[in-house]
Amino acid sequence: MNDMALAATLFGAEDLRMVEAPLGPLAPGMVRVRFGAGGICGSDMHYFRHGRTGDFVVETPLILGHEIAGEVVEIVGPASGLQVGDRVAVNPSRWCGHCARCREGRPNLCENIYFMGSASKKPHMQGGFATYFDAIPAQCIKVPADTPLVAAALAEPLAVCLHAVHRAGPVEGRRGIVFGAGPIGLLTFMAARLAGMSEIAIVDIAAAPLAFAQRLGADHVIDLSRGEQELRDLAAERNFDVAFEVSGTAAGLSSAIFTVRRGGTVVQIGNLPGGQIPVPANAVMAREIDLKGSFRFGHEFEEAVHLIVDKKIDVMSLVTAERPLSSAQEGFALALDRSRSVKVMLIAP
Ligand SMILES: [Zn+2]
Ligand SMILES: [Zn+2]
Repeated sequence: MNDMALAATLFGAEDLRMVEAPLGPLAPGMVRVRFGAGGICGSDMHYFRHGRTGDFVVETPLILGHEIAGEVVEIVGPASGLQVGDRVAVNPSRWCGHCARCREGRPNLCENIYFMGSASKKPHMQGGFATYFDAIPAQCIKVPADTPLVAAALAEPLAVCLHAVHRAGPVEGRRGIVFGAGPIGLLTFMAARLAGMSEIAIVDIAAAPLAFAQRLGADHVIDLSRGEQELRDLAAERNFDVAFEVSGTAAGLSSAIFTVRRGGTVVQIGNLPGGQIPVPANAVMAREIDLKGSFRFGHEFEEAVHLIVDKKIDVMSLVTAERPLSSAQEGFALALDRSRSVKVMLIAP
């Protein structure tokens, strides 16, 4: 086996370098995974452009990547059900399992969480855009030979969206509107549809992602770059029960609060700018809006893997390009161009 790893490492805004480093011996209780595929996420792009996402700031070099899949190449210690050679979707979260939040079944809120490719803690937690990376066995969910690793890597963003739909409460037969037609918006649309949401609108400010949303079967698509009137008219007519705010903008959150019906629910999924942002908070009171945060995911990760393996959700339909991990910079540049890209995947170099 190779004793070096090549990793896409962020040193600061717009400073992503491929760094080669020797692989240390695998620690007991760990599994070593050879990179197969990794999705470039909106938060990776925020880190790349600004050296931060929301309140998480890159202060020391950070290997990006948390949407990853690969092949198990080494195991040290017990790893029930896992073997060298297994193809796995890798859950980037390691939960402690014993804190109060873990015990109440909300492991994404774990007080001791380790989340790959994140600057939320110091030292930063290194990610999976590396030819080899290590995980604990519980992070590795096996996929069959006929599931492409590119699809398996998309279990992570799908899990984010399944969690957001769970946070909305029962959605069957209800009407929803999604603010943001990027990969998370589109996967939220697919997850909400699968959960039985009857009618779903998608809103964005760019034409290309909206055209994509239309091809995927959105009931209404609205281009906010042409003004807000169309959105106001549709909201008055359709009485949306739930709004999913995926754009991560103050304007999106504000629109979502005014777009859902009185007594409706707004789920905040997008990573908003850090610090204080203006929000029409009085409307939350006067219209009795349930404003809920949705952060990463808990046990939805396994559910996402199963939905992909069983082809219940066609995540591959979002993939617009694949680039080798060794050309990560080019992959990021392409992902940042929303006129050309929905989901850009890095694949084995
Ligand atoms: Zn992500
Ligand atoms: Zn915990």
